[in-house]
This record gives sequence, C-alpha cells and structure tokens, in this order.
Amino acid sequence: MTPDPCCEPVFACQMCGDCCRGYGGTYVTESDIQAIADYLHEDPKRFKSKYCQLSGSRYVLAQAGNGYCIFWDKLCRIHPVKPRMCRNWPYLSAVLEDIANWRAMGNSCPGIRTDFPDDVICRAVARQIEKRRNARLDDEMTSDPESGE
Ligand code: SF4
Ligand code: SF4
Repeated sequence: MTPDPCCEPVFACQMCGDCCRGYGGTYVTESDIQAIADYLHEDPKRFKSKYCQLSGSRYVLAQAGNGYCIFWDKLCRIHPVKPRMCRNWPYLSAVLEDIANWRAMGNSCPGIRTDFPDDVICRAVARQIEKRRNARLDDEMTSDPESGE
C-alpha cells in the first residue's frame, strides 16, 4: 500500500505492491470516498460506481483485471488521499492487541521486520499510532475556525 517512507527499523516499505493486490482488502469510508473523489474531480456517487465494489454492506476499492487495486500503477495513483486503511499500514492497533498479528502481516509484507523482540515492535507501533493521533489533532485545530488560528 505504498506507505510513506519511515525511519522505524521495524518496517521499511519495499514498494513491491503486494499489499495492493488481491480482492477485498481495501475498505473505504465515506470520508475516504469524498477525499478521493475530490482529488479525481469526480462526483462521490459516480466514484463509487466507477471505482468501488461492495463487500457485504461496505465499499472496497475495485480491482483491475491484473488483480491489483484499481489505483495501482507501479505506485499508488492516489497516494496523497489514499484510504485511511492504506495510510495506517502496518501500524495498526490490532498489533498492540496481539503481537501475533504483526508476525502474520509479515508473512505477506516483505517490509515488515519480524526479527525484533515483541516489546520493541510494540513500542514502535505505539509510537506511530501516537504520531498519527497527534497529527490528526493538529489538523483539527488548524481547520477549526473557532481555534482563532
Ligand atoms: S489505494 Fe493505493 S495504496 Fe491503497 S491499495 Fe490502492 S494502490 Fe494500494
Ligand atoms: S507489501 Fe509491504 S513492502 Fe510491499 S508495498 Fe506493501 S507495505 Fe510496502
């Protein structure tokens, strides 16, 4: 899912695109849909019919004929607005709930290092989740007209 390059030793994306291939993985929320549709200058409804499929009651990004996400072309074509799920990978709270998830994810993602002790991995993942949370709070502050900024 071509995450941003990151200095954490527990993960370094190899840009292989493996996580952008295969059906059903990439859920998109309504705010993801709105952001990507805006980026592509598409109407959100049209975006859904053109680029999404339903998985149960939830939307996922459609696959191209080659089995990759419809937005994959050696790189993510919507990188600045890619879905939250893609942005968060591999720093997921599920890893903090059960470190076995990190090791399972490592089976399909060559960027994930599994040769560190559990506590090192957990600290690195927790740090990234915290950074993300702080960045979100900063965004909310700067976009809040009541904040006086
Ligand atoms: S949106 Fe981008 S990062 Fe996410 S699966 Fe598709 S190509 Fe990969
Ligand atoms: S599978 Fe892992 S290493 Fe490959 S592109 Fe996705 S995040 Fe990067």
